[in-house]
Amino acid sequence: MDTPQSTQVRPGNVHPFPAIKPDHRLVPARIGRTNDTSVIVYVECPTWCTEDHVAESVGDAVDISHASGSEGLYVRSLLKTVPTHELFAAIQADPAASDPRLRQAHIVVEDRGNEYAHLTPEMAEELADKAVSFASHLRSLARTARLHNTAGDSDPDMDEALRRVQGGAA
Ligand SMILES: [Zn+2]
Repeated sequence: MDTPQSTQVRPGNVHPFPAIKPDHRLVPARIGRTNDTSVIVYVECPTWCTEDHVAESVGDAVDISHASGSEGLYVRSLLKTVPTHELFAAIQADPAASDPRLRQAHIVVEDRGNEYAHLTPEMAEELADKAVSFASHLRSLARTARLHNTAGDSDPDMDEALRRVQGGAA
């Protein structure tokens, strides 16, 4: 078994794994809060996990949890430079959680770290269906607002276009 060169691994620090679960691999993980006292162990990690378990040291092996990369949805406002809403979704699994539902791979949707919603795969699929419906609603709103803005003579873009034509600049 390969061990990182930067860390001394004594045999007593390595967890024996006679067999690895499907869709998992053994990865090094740092246990201990400081480099002086920390040790490297090997833990089973799901293939979808993108955590660096050596860089993200934990106090105890039971604190190791797994997370996938996160995809974000940013809602920008024409009045602000930073997004007003930020939604992120990722897979998480906490093998040592007291709640068995959190030991399973589940989807976490968070709003800029404010609140974490834990969803089963079925709940995530239901949310995805609602998001598709919401997207359709959003397109409908955009169409209506654009029609409203282009109807009538007071639209500044239309006025500018007319001025360009009349001025021969178009
Ligand atoms: Zn992991």
